[in-house]
Amino acid sequence: MGGCLMLSKAIFCDFDGTITELEIFVALMRHFAPEAAAQVLPEIYAQRLGLREGLPRILEGIPSQRWPEMEDFVRGTVLRPGLEHLLASAREAAVPFIVVTGGFTRMAEIVLEPYRADIHAIHGLEVDCSGPTLRVFSPWQDAHELVAKRQVLAHYQPRTALCIGDSITDLRVARDCPLVCARDRLAQYLQEEGKAFIPFETLDDVNAALAARGWWKEGADAP
Ligand SMILES: [Mg+2]
Repeated sequence: MGGCLMLSKAIFCDFDGTITELEIFVALMRHFAPEAAAQVLPEIYAQRLGLREGLPRILEGIPSQRWPEMEDFVRGTVLRPGLEHLLASAREAAVPFIVVTGGFTRMAEIVLEPYRADIHAIHGLEVDCSGPTLRVFSPWQDAHELVAKRQVLAHYQPRTALCIGDSITDLRVARDCPLVCARDRLAQYLQEEGKAFIPFETLDDVNAALAARGWWKEGADAP
């Protein structure tokens, strides 16, 4: 988690459905816990059930012995175009790129292994496989979420921040962030709340939007 960095800018990027083309964490839950996922996920999306309560109901029914199979499930995940360019821009401008996932940290580590040198940190859901079924936890949990992304933002305290996301797990941090790139469900939620955001489909769109706002200029205080 690192010490007290005085960051002027930082990027907080979701993993599932943002870096990856598809929601791999949702696919994982539907594959390994189909009944619980069918019951609980619609409640979460409708904001009738919090992630803090909902995710363990799905995940903690999965036998621990299936974990290696779950790791295999995410290998070969297709990434959204533009990650490499976005990471290169961030590296050249010395802007830390922090992956914050509401899914498993381990899964993001597996998929992002080829890009790991350009990623400052990956924070997400941790798993304990020592019991008969999975147990999930996170150092970032709060009253509402297991991985409260806004806690991660508060930890780094950059002077300005961008968050990039696509779904419900990004909503609370997006409300706190001065600049937001959103697609899919997150874009809908923000539209309903009247919060401004930059729409994107590929990470090249994000890269271009940041270039236009002077984010890649050295010492520039954007947005
Ligand atoms: Mg997502």
